[in-house]
Formats: sequence, C-alpha cells, structure tokens
Amino acid sequence: MRTLLSLLASLLLGSQAYASDTQNITQWHAVYQATLKTNVNSALSMLQDRYHTADTDSEKLYVSGLIYEYMSNINQPYYGSSQILDNRFAKLESKYIQALKERKNGNCDASVSLFSSLLQATKQQQDLESKALMNYQLCYTLNQQGQYHKSNFFCSSLMQQFSNGHPESIPSDLAIRVIANNFDFRGEYDIALNLYRRILNNMPAQSDTSGVYNDVGNLLSELGQFEQSEQYLIQALLARQLDAKPLEVAQVEHSLAAMYNKSKDYDKAISHYKNALTILDGLNYPYGQGLTYLGLGSAYIESGDLKSAVPMIRKALKLGEQYDNIRLQTESHLAAGSAYLKHDMQDKALEHGQAALNLSLTNSTSALQAKAQLLLSQVYGRLGEYSKALTHYKNYATLELANRDANNVKAIEALDLTKNEYEYDLQLAKINNERSLKLLEVEKLGDQQRAYNFAIFCLIILLIASLFVQRRTRIKSTLDTLTSSLNRSAIIDKIKDQCAKCSDDMRYVLILIDLDKFKLINDNYGHPTGDAVLRHVSKALKAKLNKDEYLGRLGGEEFVLLLKNVDEIDVPFRVQSIHKTISEKRIKTSNNQLLSVTASLAYLSTSKPLTNFDELYSILDQALYQAKRNGRNAIIDAYNEPIDLPPAAFESTTS
Ligand code: GH3
Ligand code: MG
Ligand code: MG
Repeated sequence: MRTLLSLLASLLLGSQAYASDTQNITQWHAVYQATLKTNVNSALSMLQDRYHTADTDSEKLYVSGLIYEYMSNINQPYYGSSQILDNRFAKLESKYIQALKERKNGNCDASVSLFSSLLQATKQQQDLESKALMNYQLCYTLNQQGQYHKSNFFCSSLMQQFSNGHPESIPSDLAIRVIANNFDFRGEYDIALNLYRRILNNMPAQSDTSGVYNDVGNLLSELGQFEQSEQYLIQALLARQLDAKPLEVAQVEHSLAAMYNKSKDYDKAISHYKNALTILDGLNYPYGQGLTYLGLGSAYIESGDLKSAVPMIRKALKLGEQYDNIRLQTESHLAAGSAYLKHDMQDKALEHGQAALNLSLTNSTSALQAKAQLLLSQVYGRLGEYSKALTHYKNYATLELANRDANNVKAIEALDLTKNEYEYDLQLAKINNERSLKLLEVEKLGDQQRAYNFAIFCLIILLIASLFVQRRTRIKSTLDTLTSSLNRSAIIDKIKDQCAKCSDDMRYVLILIDLDKFKLINDNYGHPTGDAVLRHVSKALKAKLNKDEYLGRLGGEEFVLLLKNVDEIDVPFRVQSIHKTISEKRIKTSNNQLLSVTASLAYLSTSKPLTNFDELYSILDQALYQAKRNGRNAIIDAYNEPIDLPPAAFESTTS
C-alpha cells in the first residue's frame, strides 16, 4: 500500500515538476503568487524546484531574488543558493541579492550602483536575458525613487528588448508594468494606458491585478476622472487588504488619499493618508513616507488647517533632502510655498517657490515646473511686482497649455479604456436581466401549466360526473320506478339483443309471471299494499337471478324473466324454485297482517335466438292463460304441455 502511495506521489510530483518546467516564467510566477497566499510551504518548494530546473543564469537570478524576498519576509538571512560553488554565477548571484537587500533597506543609490555594475557585466557577457533583468530592476528601483527620467533610460532599454521578443527572465506583466509606470510618471499617459490595457488583457489566469488597478486608478485620477479612479483604487485596496504585504496596502491607501485630495474630498484624503502613514511607520521606505507626509500636508492646507500642515511638509522636505530625492524636495517646497502664501508670509513663500522652480528646472517634470511658475506668479502678484508676476504666469500658461493638450488626448484614451469596461458591465447586466426575464417567463409558464392542469383536472372531473349522471339517467330510464326491475321496453330490448348466433350450448329460459288474484289484494289491503307486494316479489325474483340474467316488469302485476345457460334437465327445477320463492314470501301489510301471494308461470326453454319476442310472448301468454285456467298458482311448460286454444272471445290476461 505504502509503495503504491509513494509511486502515486512520485507520479504526481513528477507531473507537477514537468508542468512547472514547461510553464513560462510569466505563468509560473502567477501560480507562485497565488500559492504564496494560500500555502507558503508549497510556494517555497515551487521556488526551489524552479531554481534547480532553471537552465539560464537570468532565470536562476530572478528566482533567487524571489527566494531572498521570501526569506526576508520570514526574517531569515539569505545570500544566494549557489554560494557554496564559489563560481562566476555565485558571484553574480551574491551581488544581485545584495542589490535587492540595499533597496529593501532604503539605500537606493547603493542598490542602483550594484544593479548598474551587474548590467555592465551582462553586457560584456552578451547575456541578453540577464541584461533585461537588470534593466527591469533599475527601471523599477528608480521609478520607486521618483527618478523617472533616469529610470526612463533603463525602462526604454527594457522596452526595446521586449519589442525584439519576450525576455524569458522576467514575468512579462511585471516588466510591462514598470515600463508603463515610467511613462505614466513622466506624463506620457496615452502610452501608459495602452500598456496597462495590454497587461490587463494578457494577465495569466491566477495573477494579482491589484497593482495594475492601482496604477490605472492613479492615472485616471491624474486625468481628473475621479469616479472611475475611485472604482479602480477601491478594487485594488479590497484585493490587497485581503492578503498583500503592508507596503502594497500603504501604496493603495496613498493612491486613494491623493485621488480624494485632487477631487477636493479632504476629509477622506486625510484619513487615507493617515492610514498609509500608520502602515509605512513600521517599514523602511523613506520616499513613500515623504510623499505621504507631503500629501497629508497639502490636504491640511487645502482644508484650511495650516497649523497641522506645516510640520508634515517639514518632515517631507527633510526626508527628501536626507535621501537626495529631487521630486520630493520640489513638491515639499511647492507645498510649503502655498502654505506660506495662504498665511500671507510672502518672503518665505517666495523662497520656497524659487527653490521649487530651480529643482524642477534641473531634474523634474514639466507639471512641477508649471506649478512652481504659478506659485511664483501668485507671490509676486501679492508683492505688487506685476511685471515679474506676468512673466511667471506666461511661463506657467505655456507649460500648462502643453500639459492640458496632452491631457485631453490622454483623457480620451482613458475614456476609451473605461468605456470598454462599462460596455462589458452593461453587457453583463443585460445578460443578467435577460436571464431573470427568462426565469420569470419560465415561472409564468409553470403557473400557466399548473392552471391548465387544474382546468383539465376540473374538466375530467366534470366529464366523469356528467358520464356518471348520464349513466344514472340512462339506467334510470331503463328501470321501472316502482320495483327497480327493468321496465317493459328495456326488458324486451334485452331479450331481443341476446346474441343471434349463439352456440347450441347456450340455452335461454323465458318465464312469464302473473300474480294471481292481485286485484283482490288491492281491494282488500289497499293500493299501497299492492305496491309493496309488487316490490317484494320483484326483490325476491332478483335474488334468484345469476349474472347476466334479467327481470323485467311488463306492466301491472306481470313480470318476465330471462335465464341463461341452464342445463335442459335443470330448467323445470329452476322454474319451480322461482315459483316457490314468490309464494313463500310473507309480506307485512300496513296494519301488520302477514300476507302471501301466488303466481302463475309459463316458461319456454330454447337455444334459438330470441329476436322474435312478440311470437315468443304470444306463446307464453297462451300458456299462462292455460295456467290460470288450471287453477292458478301453477307452472306451464309452454312448448311441451298441452294448451287449449282460447276461445276467440277470451282476451289475454295481460292485455
Ligand atoms: P288473475 O289471477 O286472473 O290475474 O286476477 P287478477 O286480479 O290478478 O287480474 P286482473 O287483470 O283482473 O287485475 C289486475 C289488477 O292489478 C288490476 C289493477 O288494479 C292491479 N294493478 C295493476 N297495476 C298495479 C299497480 O301498479 N299497483 C297496484 N297496487 N295494483 C295494480
Ligand atoms: Mg293477475
Ligand atoms: Mg294480469
């Protein structure tokens, strides 16, 4: 059993290893990131597997960097996995890890210089893949430091490599994102948007989109599309709050705060800046911290709380100077200048405005230059130096107009991007609506079906009821109302209907019965007693019948019986038995007297068809007359006993 299990395990592991071997670095990295969130141990073994199966220096280096990150997150030292070998690659790896470490510790210059020297080495080795990796790291690091123009150099080189074919050493979504960030930060919004769109469209299934959402949110905010920006940023925040690293959460908090600040929602801005600061407090990321102080400061200024603003701006400026970050310094001077201007402290405002302009002219973006020119124009205006104010305003207007032209184009691009998304949402909503409508229809159809079923059920019940009633009326119409035996026409039909081609074995017996001296009963006991006698006799006769044998009342006190399947030899006995049953019956009169009645019977037995009833009846009638003549309470076999023909003057008893 155990061997079977281990065989299965090795097969599974084998196939996994095979799968990860064949996955390109982009797909593999997406799976790794997803695994890292759910199962850190498997994530580590994924790293080790990939490291050992990597067949290029560049891929090994990249994975080694991930191992370093993994280890530093659990506070474990890591210097590279090949150090024991002490070969060329081991040296490369050690330097690469050192560069990452410096960056993590906030020593960006050291980090950049290490990556740069690695870049030189890869160029000498003509190792294009490793060169792409170093370009990527330099682009990323300098972007993070706000040194966008410097980073542009490496980002463009990386971009160039991408257009010549995918470098296999870096996940393509990460690489394109740092390139897009650089375009974004340098105000090349249209290119940035296109690249972000490319990433979102091509992301491997398990990838974390929160980073790109954050970037797109920032960009939309830059373009003044705050509602859409908020949607992207909140999406990013929600995704990151679940399982991302603190720095990544702080990044989105900062983005949200900056967006709210821009859209003049200062309370929200202040609260998100504070969230970001709380997270950043425990991390070593001075540039991020500086930008956040600055953001918080400017939110305070805008909301009129200058007292709270100043210390924040000071902290930002201090960090900018400490870490030699021009952008941070420029923005701090701008913020300080605006704050002093609001305080009517023109000298200090001028000082900061000038500092901001100088810094932005040497090393920053045109957007910051424009802001510095505007600030200076406002300060000179306050000071009454209108010619200087005008010059600065002209400079500001030129820069701003250029920016705005660019921004308009970018805004259209941004709209295109969001329009696509809205169209998609719209389609989804439409499909959902259609689905609900279909469901409603189905429900309605179900109701209709149930209504139909009920109606059909009612109809069937009605049909059955009417059939029942019909049958009852039909039966009723064939019955004699007094005795409930068949009435005259029904019994005659029944007799005539007996099968025309019956076998010789089928023997019918027809019996004509006439109660004796019945008139006397009526006369002596009254008509109702006569009726009672008729009912009792009828009941007694019915009791003598077998299945498919019939009793009918021809009229008055005259009955006819149809018996079937009686053996010839048994016929007299059955007739006698029937005759006897009439006379044996004791009937209670209305004044409790018991009376009995006798009857005269004439019968015939035949296996011939009974279709000619009239003839048969005539024979029986004559025989019955003979029975009466014989003294009543008698039986006559109409075919076999002598019958005196009645005198012509005699009338039938039944007529
Ligand atoms: P017989 O022995 O010769 O047959 O004598 P009878 O009195 O039975 O014969 P008759 O034909 O003279 O009388 C028949 C009587 O039956 C006449 C009539 O009042 C009576 N009767 C006929 N139909 C009914 C009925 O529905 N109810 C009652 N109570 N009497 C009836
Ligand atoms: Mg009679
Ligand atoms: Mg009679």
